[in-house]
Amino acid sequence: MKKHLLSIDDLSVDDVETLFATAAEMHDVQHRQVKKLPALRGRTIINLFFEDSTRTRSSFEIAGKWLSADTINIAAKGSSASKGESLRDTVLTIAAMGVDALVMRHPASGAALQVSQWVDAAVVNAGDGTHEHPSQALLDAYTLQRRIGPLEGRHVAIIGDLTHSRVFRSNVLLLTKLGARVTVVAPPTLMPSGIAAWAAEAGFATSYDVDAVLPDADAVMMLRVQRERMSGGYFPSAREYTVGYGLTRDRLGVLGPDVPICHPGPMNRGLEIAADAADAAQSAVLEQVSAGVAVRMAILYHLLAGEEAQP
Ligand code: ASP
Repeated sequence: MKKHLLSIDDLSVDDVETLFATAAEMHDVQHRQVKKLPALRGRTIINLFFEDSTRTRSSFEIAGKWLSADTINIAAKGSSASKGESLRDTVLTIAAMGVDALVMRHPASGAALQVSQWVDAAVVNAGDGTHEHPSQALLDAYTLQRRIGPLEGRHVAIIGDLTHSRVFRSNVLLLTKLGARVTVVAPPTLMPSGIAAWAAEAGFATSYDVDAVLPDADAVMMLRVQRERMSGGYFPSAREYTVGYGLTRDRLGVLGPDVPICHPGPMNRGLEIAADAADAAQSAVLEQVSAGVAVRMAILYHLLAGEEAQP
């Protein structure tokens, strides 16, 4: 594996398989009474978050702790960043303390790459603007594989606010790498400009019509409507969005009972996903969260303990 995890493009198919194999072993740790492995004893991991997060930050923190690393959280609110310190000064200050890994989330696309050029520590991109969120895509694919088996040739529908979604970008890269057939669905206003060229090159499909795509899907991934990143009106009303693009109770009825429903969270219940779908037996939402810890343990382990080390 490369030194940093900034994008899914940093990983080969072999790397992904290795990560998933390690994650499967880490997953077992979650069910033990004593959830501790000594693998990263003496290592220091800083979670540096310039955007809000519940799942990703706590998941990386738990992952580091279960591997016996010292993990420290720094949120932009409450740090010197809110006093006007530049990103470069903030990360150089933290790096000067001798950290081994920096897990960072930032509202600017490309921020993690930029930081990786400033510091010696391994950098993990935990979400950079609307660009990428590789650990999320890894945990999504890992969860799907556990539910429906190898993803080669399987059809995954990714539905929702594509324009603002780093989750969708990382997922398309990973799912196509693993040989899945991907269709991304959004209203025209939330379909990223220039997507046709990317779709043609990467070999995925785009659609404006959820109802045409759902009956043929082997897995469904709903995306959050990211209102905090929207400056204008992307759709007339919440109700209209739900009618056009939400996973409603009626649409749930169209899906086979074994078709997993994923959502990276946080969910807007009643907007992009109905409670019936979020809480359905086939919903994989909470499995994604628990897989997230195992997959992040695998990521930290491989970045910090090195290739030769065996779990
Ligand atoms: N939690 C994910 C992210 O940070 C998805 C979302 O916020 O909608 O990208």
